Amino acid sequence: MHAYQIQKGKKISLIDFDPNDTKLWQLDKKEAKKTTKGFREELINLQRLLYAEQKHKVLIILQAMDGGGKDGTIRSIFQGVNPQGVRVASFKVPTPEEIGHDYLWRIHKQTPKSGEIVIFNRSHYEDVLVVRVHQLVPEKTWRKRYEHIRNFERTLTDEGTTILKFFLHISKEEQKERFVERIEISEKQWKFNPKDIDERKLWDDYMQAYEDALIRTSTAHAPWYVIPANRNWYRDYVIIKIITETVKKLKMTYPKPVENIKQYKSLLK
Ligand code: AMP
Ligand code: MG
Repeated sequence: MHAYQIQKGKKISLIDFDPNDTKLWQLDKKEAKKTTKGFREELINLQRLLYAEQKHKVLIILQAMDGGGKDGTIRSIFQGVNPQGVRVASFKVPTPEEIGHDYLWRIHKQTPKSGEIVIFNRSHYEDVLVVRVHQLVPEKTWRKRYEHIRNFERTLTDEGTTILKFFLHISKEEQKERFVERIEISEKQWKFNPKDIDERKLWDDYMQAYEDALIRTSTAHAPWYVIPANRNWYRDYVIIKIITETVKKLKMTYPKPVENIKQYKSLLK
């Protein structure tokens, strides 16, 4: 089991996870960046194989507080990967159409098909995070969702989906620095949302909600990883390492070519 993986049923406290950690798998930034590049090349080849084989489905779920680095992670991990066969699904405040259905309706529609990798930028976990923190539904409603989610993800994995879930863990101090950057740097200003300041005031409530979600929904088939995310280079390194090593274990092979393929060469004259 990976060191940052949450064991099924294990009580954890996020306080015990250091967002500044860079030491577990790598000591030095330069070395980590080099290794990340190597993993990236490997992932590009694995994705080509996954797409050709059309057998496995891969779902990567990213959750974080505002400024946690979800967008940056997607950019870093998937640069160079063939866009045909990779897709990002972002989940925002539900539309009236979406809110009229059960909360998993919009999620299920975006899950990967065979040969595809899908990255969830936020996910059904918002329905036990923001929804819980803001009491958008009564407690007795969101309490039942952990079990729904476990069963939903079990259905997906039983049907051939590999699921990896990453919580990008930043500190409250780091969030402040990132918000200041969004205010000061003109290319980043579009990302600044005054509402994020209000959400920040609810930091402790969010940590409690995250803790419960991680404890209740990390399973062997759909594990959660808590990623130290204050340092982008370490975050990228750890995530791409876990993704690449997991996809590699699928033992994929290219589909068999037509029989006597070489004979067709002469027909091309
Ligand atoms: P962003 O990812 O910064 O574009 O923001 C999307 C916003 O949508 C975040 O504030 C989320 O908390 C919010 N959001 C996503 N899913 C839900 C949901 N199911 N219910 C309420 N708010 C949501
Ligand atoms: Mg935002």
